[in-house]
Amino acid sequence: MNENNLFFDIHEECGIFGIFGHPEAANLTYLGLYALQHRGQEGAGICSSDGSRLYLEKSLGLVAEIFNEKVLKNLPGHIAIGHNRYSTTGSSSLENVQPLMATYSLGSIAIAHNGNLIDIERLRGKLEKDGAIFQTTSDSEIILHLIARARDGGVHERVANAIRQVSGAFSILLMSETELIALRDPYGIRPLSLGQLNDSYIVASETCAFDLIGATYIRDVEPGEMLIINEGGIKSLKIFNSYKKAHCVFEFIYFARPDSYIFDHICVNTVRKELGRQLAREHPVDADIVIPVPDSGVPAALGYAEQSGIPFEFGLIRNHYVGRTFIEPKQSIRHFGVKIKLNPVREILKGKKVIVIDDSIVRGTTSKKIVKMIRELGEAKEVHMRISSPPAIGPCFYGIDTPTRQELIASSHKVEEIRKYITADSLGYLSIEGLKKIIPSSTNYCMACFNSKYPIEFESKKVSQIELFS
Ligand code: AMP
Repeated sequence: MNENNLFFDIHEECGIFGIFGHPEAANLTYLGLYALQHRGQEGAGICSSDGSRLYLEKSLGLVAEIFNEKVLKNLPGHIAIGHNRYSTTGSSSLENVQPLMATYSLGSIAIAHNGNLIDIERLRGKLEKDGAIFQTTSDSEIILHLIARARDGGVHERVANAIRQVSGAFSILLMSETELIALRDPYGIRPLSLGQLNDSYIVASETCAFDLIGATYIRDVEPGEMLIINEGGIKSLKIFNSYKKAHCVFEFIYFARPDSYIFDHICVNTVRKELGRQLAREHPVDADIVIPVPDSGVPAALGYAEQSGIPFEFGLIRNHYVGRTFIEPKQSIRHFGVKIKLNPVREILKGKKVIVIDDSIVRGTTSKKIVKMIRELGEAKEVHMRISSPPAIGPCFYGIDTPTRQELIASSHKVEEIRKYITADSLGYLSIEGLKKIIPSSTNYCMACFNSKYPIEFESKKVSQIELFS
């Protein structure tokens, strides 16, 4: 997001975790956020309840930097929600770290949201005209206002009514003093799964969070479903009239962790590996070794190597302690980030014809650096880049941090032009048909980043406005 954007904080990939009915709710949420750290590294927060009031701790930074025993002691109770945020820089960042909490006529409420709402200018403008005062620039605060301002009904009716007024991508956790509510947009764009640990229910962005705390994955929160979890148990409400699944395909390609099961029990690692196999079928090349761009390219590179029979090697070593540099939004720092993160192993690469596998090319700057690094520092003879997804041509308005269309190199350049730009000996992207062949056909997907077909309609005027701000 542009720092000049004073009005909206389009928070992007995020991780959310919630638990009801555990005496150590905040501690388990802390662990859950650890497992979901890959979904956002800019800030994190936990809100807990002991049944009578809410407690909130949040800050900028990584989960490990924010929480310690002392901070966790400030979060008593048997209910908790947590959030890992991936977003923008700017002075207002701390206010925008979630969960966001508010007090209204029915008590207190807190929200943790993954995804982007669209049409936020209209909604926020309307609320402000009615006298609403916003404390953050986060689109999620709109939902709190809509809940607080509803005149009639209890919490559930108010939440359902508020949610029906917004559109976009949302996997949401809400909590009051006495319950946990989980919601998913009618398209199910972002993942959200339900788990169980003894008598407690857990809702998390990805199942890898269940594994860490020894919980069992039960099922996904259904698109358009509102789950209410309280002392009485768990209740499911369908709050939309129509449901049209459009799960984000980029979760498979890059965003989710390979050890997670998303979109109704689909293993991310299996999909990624199969994408690599398909890539090998579509773009074979005579070479000595297959190497991944770690970590995101590893499963696809294994698949490519198995399919092609060319040996797999770790030709690039990733520094895992770099922290958050990769989310820095400025191009100059992104360039720097590649060098600080990856280094070639000359012994492996020297004099070899190398196939390099990455999951995606966005702006093209990472691939360019990597190819140069493998050729110059690694002294490879040939560098063949293979990408386990189709050319990224459409910006995401539903919660993945992709740049504007103009910055997406494949939106304005042919494959051969991109090859020249990244200085590879050859370049091959997975085809859209190949992608469709691999992803399980048991459900439907949003592939707007690859085909520019956006499942949630919005006026083209708004697209350009949002693009300006992204
Ligand atoms: P670029 O230099 O813009 O082409 O970035 C491509 C690299 O960024 C690839 O190595 C991807 O694994 C990675 N990547 C793709 N999508 C994202 C994202 N939303 N946030 C951070 N990194 C990403």
